Formats: sequence, structure tokens, C-alpha cells
Amino acid sequence: MVFFVHLLKLCFSLQIICHAASQSVVIKRFKILNMLPVEVLKEYWGYDGFRPMQEEIINSALEGKDVLAIMPTGGGKSVCFQVPGIMAEGLTLVVTPLIALMKDQVQNLERRGVRAIAVHAGMSRHEVDLALNNAAYGDYKFLYLSPERIATRLFQSYLEVMDVSYIVVDEAHCISQWGYDFRPDYLKIGDLRERIGAPVIALTATATPAVAEDIMDKLSFKENNVLRSGFERPNLSYIVRNVEDKYSQIVNICKGVPGSGIIYARNRRKCEELSSMLRSEGIDASYYHAGLGQAARSERQAAWKEGKIQVMVCTNAFGMGIDKPDVRFVAHYDLPDSPEAYFQEAGRAGRDGKRSYALLLWNGIDVRRLGQIENVSFPSLEFIADVYQKLHAFFEIPYDAGIGRQLKFSLEDFCKAYGLQRAPVFYSMKYLERTGHITFSEEVDIPTKVRISVDRKSLYDIDLPSQELASLLEVLMRSYTGIFSFLQTVDEGYLAGRLGTTVSQLRQLLYSLSLEHVISYVPAAHSDVVFLHHDRLRPGNLDLMPKRFAMLKDSYHDRSQAMLEYASETDECRSRFLLRYFGQTETSDCGTCDVCRSKVAGFSYHQVVPSNCPGSSDASLREDPPLAPLRSAPVPPLVPRVALSSSAGQFEGASVQPEGIAVRQEGIAGQFDRSAGRSEATVRQYTRRKLVEFIEGKGGDYSITEIVAEFDNPSKFYSTDYLEILRQLIDDGEVPVYND
Ligand SMILES: [Zn+2]
Repeated sequence: MVFFVHLLKLCFSLQIICHAASQSVVIKRFKILNMLPVEVLKEYWGYDGFRPMQEEIINSALEGKDVLAIMPTGGGKSVCFQVPGIMAEGLTLVVTPLIALMKDQVQNLERRGVRAIAVHAGMSRHEVDLALNNAAYGDYKFLYLSPERIATRLFQSYLEVMDVSYIVVDEAHCISQWGYDFRPDYLKIGDLRERIGAPVIALTATATPAVAEDIMDKLSFKENNVLRSGFERPNLSYIVRNVEDKYSQIVNICKGVPGSGIIYARNRRKCEELSSMLRSEGIDASYYHAGLGQAARSERQAAWKEGKIQVMVCTNAFGMGIDKPDVRFVAHYDLPDSPEAYFQEAGRAGRDGKRSYALLLWNGIDVRRLGQIENVSFPSLEFIADVYQKLHAFFEIPYDAGIGRQLKFSLEDFCKAYGLQRAPVFYSMKYLERTGHITFSEEVDIPTKVRISVDRKSLYDIDLPSQELASLLEVLMRSYTGIFSFLQTVDEGYLAGRLGTTVSQLRQLLYSLSLEHVISYVPAAHSDVVFLHHDRLRPGNLDLMPKRFAMLKDSYHDRSQAMLEYASETDECRSRFLLRYFGQTETSDCGTCDVCRSKVAGFSYHQVVPSNCPGSSDASLREDPPLAPLRSAPVPPLVPRVALSSSAGQFEGASVQPEGIAVRQEGIAGQFDRSAGRSEATVRQYTRRKLVEFIEGKGGDYSITEIVAEFDNPSKFYSTDYLEILRQLIDDGEVPVYND
């Protein structure tokens, strides 16, 4: 309310020039509060100052420029668009895929006296209509909506009358086809931008320089304008462990670090297994993945957020938009596909600024799996084209038909019907989605649908067995116009409320009514859904964009290689590595990651750890004693048992695994065993020998390209100086000169 008083009393206008879709020049008037951004921050948030970069982003937006803000999760993204949104006249559209975040932010804004509203999946058409109407005609400042809403006719009709001040695009990396998390619905934001000339504030926590370019291009930025804030997370210690026995490391961190934690695992089965194993160790763990129903997911998420569950073992479906400040550790049980995903997920630890840990576990299996995934993720285009045709055949859809159909899809049944492997089919579907032929949504909560199947007149002749059924029928008729003509999505909570029953009782009543042949009833379901964007194409007419396919494959390969480099990095500070990857050049060593600590401890990664070093034998690593003192200790230690102490050469707690041990233990496809645990000189010697073997194997007939292909491979742990070593070999006359 305070805001509106200010708006009336103290506004002046600023003229901003915007280009509309037609390329004509439109003058947009921004009425801006006669307050400085920092005063708005104080007024509504109670903070005295901005965090790094926030003010630059806000000023850029207030000048009417398009701005892409790249800042880490927890860096205070929302303030960057909420402050200008409050200051400018009109409605700020916030596009975000995260329903939890929408609800959170709307509540927070309302609490601060700023009117905000959200439109998201799960709302009935009536509710959506009401919300959009309010946004258009009420004095709302923020409208949150999910990207798939943009194309709906309802939204488009309201858009005509909305006075939009800014288009905010959250998770903006989702618009990039080459990015790690592309969402086709995001492309619609480009159309939105074309329609209304309002400036764009795009935000993301992860974008490489190439992805940043792509985002600005897709959102038709008038001029490139990237503001990148520090990605340093000084309170977050990155720790990487190359171990065969991942499980004991997980137990160690759960028991050694008090407070909330997240463990990311690759698949659902692993989440369930790991969670039950941890529980059997007395650790308060639960699991979360998209296979759980909506209710179970919300329930577990809330319990974890409130600290009722300590550790959540989950797939990457968990954590998006959850702002829990006191997460003390994030552990990755499997190697993620990309540094983007890793940084995003690991960054959920320590948002409160207190010491936290990001633990990454990997071994040779991960390396092989990453290679396999790459092959599986990109089946041949012929295969994809075949899946496209089979998909239609499966639902008996003839050529030149099918547009707009929404199909409940079971990957299992489909694969069984055609004797196909699950994974390549899955990725074919994903690619068909990327190329705009279908939308393939996994694990969708499909709402209940009802249609009254008798006409109005004969309704009154029907003798229903109970009064409850009659009441239900009446409520249905009154609540949903059109329910006589077609299947209508009904809101079970609302209906149950009207009838004074529970949702499960309501479902029984609906079922009973359907048995009386009064209604058609499609119960709520949790399933994969395929939506067909056009009529079935004949073979040969399906454009699968081979160039795009090749580019996607390359960018996927680059990302997974970068991830592998991160894991196998032994020299560069972990934090530095990640910052460099995201285009930040001015960086310094963090001092707390495992690489930095190993330097402080005075030995390099490749050095052999003396055998009398605590915990250096395999037996002591596997045995329990390290944990015994913990159990009897009344106060748990404040550092995780996997972390090294900063004092030189000393390890905290007997269970600590010094760097050298991790090296000694690991074995990647038999290659690393031979070079592991050796000094740099040994690695060079090993590389030298392998070079000679390789060249001899080719009968001395070899090229530099072949050498690079073989030796420039982080998973094999050759010396990175292999070309220099080759030179020496040639100079020494040990091997012949390569062919051009
Ligand atoms: Zn470091």
C-alpha cells in the first residue's frame, strides 16, 4: 500500500525508447518512483544495501535496456527484477518453470505489500481466467506464469490489454538449444518478446559465454548486455573423491556433517536403495524422484525443508526453486553430465554463508557410463524417424491426422510392443520434442476429467441410488459450463469442499456416478504424456534437422568432457575451474577445495602417501573404526570426515581420506592403476611408454590427429604434456616422425 501512495505523490516519468515487433519506434513511458533503488530495497525488504551486481542489473533495467544477469543461485536474483518491477508503471511478467518458486515469491511479495499473482499448472480454467483478469485490470505489479501458458489463447487475449513494464525470464538458459536444460516451451518467450516491446530481464545461474550469446539472440536483445556476478562461493568447499566404495563416503558425510543434506543419484532405483541403506545405518534419510505422486513429493519436500528429514536422496528432479538456506552438504553419488548441472546442484549448499560441502564421487564406472550415455542419447536419425512413425502407429493415428492430440503414453508398453530398448526410444522422443514435432512430458499429473453423458432433460428422470450422488451431479452441473458437451477438468479439492467430503470419498462418488452411466469419468493419473504438434507426416516429409542434431551432439560431448576434466583435475583449484568454465577470468584459489588443501598439505596429487599415514591402508578405509569415536562423542565434529584439515600434513579424524589415498585406490578401466599414486615423473614415463607402444602398434605410420585422439583423454590419465614427450621421442630417434 505504501507503494501506491508513493506512486501517486512522487512520480516522474522517464522516456524509454523501445522497438516493437514491427521495428517501428514506440515511446514507452515509465513512471518511476522518485526513490532510488536502494531506498526501494530498504522500504520493501528492509535491507540497507545491495549485494554485488544487483544494483548494476537494476540500473540497466531502469534505463530500459535488455539485460542478461548471470548470477549464482542464492545470489539474490529476485531482487534484481522485483525492484525495477515495483518502480516502473505497469505489470511485470515473470516467466518461470518452477511452481514452488512462483508460490513462494508471490507470498513474499504480498507480505511486503506488493500485489502479485501466479498462473500455473494445476489451476482450473476458471481460476486461470480470474487470475489473468485481475492481472490485466487490477492493480497488480507482478504476474508469474509458466512458459507453456504463453501460447494459450486465453493468455494471448489478455495480453492485448496488459500494460507490461518488463518481461522477466527466469532460468533463461532453458531457451538455449545448445544448453544443458533446453525446454521447448521457452521458445514461446521469443514470440512474446516480438509481440510486446517491453524490455527483458533474463536471469540464469549457469551460462557459458556461448549459451549467453544464444539467450540474447533468442530473446531478440536490442543490444548485447550481460552482467555476470561473482560465482565464488567462499563458504562452499568443493571436494572430489575418486573411489570405488562410494557408499562409505556417503555414510561418512551424513554422519560427520550435522544439518541438512542432499544426495543426488542418477536414477530412481538408486535413490530408493541408497535411502533405505542409509536408514539402516540410523541416518534420517528419505528419497525423492519424479516417479512419486505429487502429494508424496510435496510432503517429503516440506519435511526436508523443515528439517524433519535430514538427508534427501534424490534425482535432479529435486531442489529446483527450493530456497533452503542451511543446507550443509550436497553430495553427488554419480558424475553429472555437465558442469552446468553440477554447479547448479552443488550450489544449493550453504546459501546462508556458513561452511558447507559439495562432495563429488566418481570412478571408472562413471567414465564408461558417460560415454555410453552419449551414444544412447543420440540414436541415429533413421532410428528417430522410425520411432516417430511407430509412435503414431501405436495410437493408430493415420497419415495427415493427429494434430493437437494428447496421448497418455507408456514408454514400457511402447517398447514392449515393438521390441525396442527403452533408452534410445526415450532420447528419440526427447529429440522429436526439441525439433518441435511433439511435446513429451514425463510423469505429468493429469487432472480428473468429467463429462455428463446424458442430456439435460433426461437428467431429471434418472433415479440415483443416493442423495450424495444427486448432490454431486448438481454441483458438477453448476460449476462447469460445457460439462454436457465435452470432458472438463474438474478441481477435486473444490468439489470435495462443496460436498463436505474428502477427495478420496469424492473419487468414489465419481466412480459410482460413472457406473450409473451418468458421467464419463477420467480419473486423475500420473503418467507420461505425448502431445502431437501436427498431423502425422509421411516418411520423407519429416525434417529432423541433421545439422542441429550434430551440433547438439557436439555440445553434449563438450559438456560431458568438461565434467570429466573437472573430476579428474589435480592441479587447478575446483572453484577456479568452475568459474573459468562459466567465463569468469579474474579468480583466485579458494583455499578450501580438495586440490587447494592438498597443496597446503604439501604434496601433489600424484605423490605417494607414506604407508604410515593414518588411514592409508585399504583396510582402514573400509573398516568402521573411523566412525566409532563419532558415535560415542556427544557433539558431532563440525567438519565432514571427508574434508582435510588445513594444517599441513595433518588429517582431521582418523577416517579422513588423504588425497594420495584416493589416488592410490582408484582404477579407471585398468589405465589409471598403472599411473596412479606415482609422481609426475612416473606419469610422464608411463605416457612415454604408451606413446611408443601406440606408434609401434601402427607400424610407425601415424598422424598427430591419431595421437591427439588417443592421448588427449582425461579419463586415461596420460600426461597432458604428451605432445612434448612425443617431440622428445622423435628427437631421441625412438619413434619415426608423424605423417602430415
Ligand atoms: Zn580451491
